[in-house]
Amino acid sequence: MPRRMLVTILLAVVVVATVSTVAGVTAPSSSDTSGATTRRRPPTSASTSTTTTTTLPSLVQGAPPGPVIGTDGTAPVVSRVPTTDNVIFLGIDDGLHRDPAVVELLLREKVPVTLFLARDPAGDGRSYFRELVDAGLATVESHTKSHESVRGMPYSVQQDEVCATLDEFTEWFGRRPTLFRPPYGEWDATTRQAAASCGLRAVVMWQGATNDGRLDIVGGHFFPGDVLLLHFRPDLAENLQLVIDRARAEGFKIGRLVDYVGGP
Ligand SMILES: [Zn+2]
Repeated sequence: MPRRMLVTILLAVVVVATVSTVAGVTAPSSSDTSGATTRRRPPTSASTSTTTTTTLPSLVQGAPPGPVIGTDGTAPVVSRVPTTDNVIFLGIDDGLHRDPAVVELLLREKVPVTLFLARDPAGDGRSYFRELVDAGLATVESHTKSHESVRGMPYSVQQDEVCATLDEFTEWFGRRPTLFRPPYGEWDATTRQAAASCGLRAVVMWQGATNDGRLDIVGGHFFPGDVLLLHFRPDLAENLQLVIDRARAEGFKIGRLVDYVGGP
């Protein structure tokens, strides 16, 4: 009898301990989620980006390494920014199709975007992209010179592709790029070296993308810090509206990526 009592007591202790452990793990994230719709901190403020990086582990488990620069001298690869802010980031690529409706939409909604442009469309569309840059809604970042895949290429080739547009982009758009997105999402260790060699602070991938009028995201919904992939194609305005509406419905803001990973 005493033995059974002891077992019962031990079991009770284990159950209580387990429950409190689970509660301890789930409580912060669930309260964070429920507070998401009311917590409207502007993700662009310096104080926000400073404070958020201190309390990230429980919400970003499984996320790629954070934007820690310089540990091995190469640029980190980021597809989900370590943050507890309910914020996502929009990266729009290439720049070939330049629809005025996209500019109107972004100005109206005041949504910040990161433009990963290849050299020729950036040059051809200078005034188009400049309107978004001048409105404070866009930064223009590196997406190679020729839009060739760089994976597997020698360092000298990758360095040229990744870095060659920076001087021109600085002149055209008034700011030196600090981020790189590899064409086709194809990169390797050399890409990270090449990016770091010209001061780029991260190789930016994505957790979700718009395709044929629908949004596909890893896990089926937004996580804090998710970076998305969009393209300057004829359906961009439609895709942007889809993402904006979805973000609002899930209690997420759309942030400026460079405020989180782009450096000073
Ligand atoms: Zn591209």
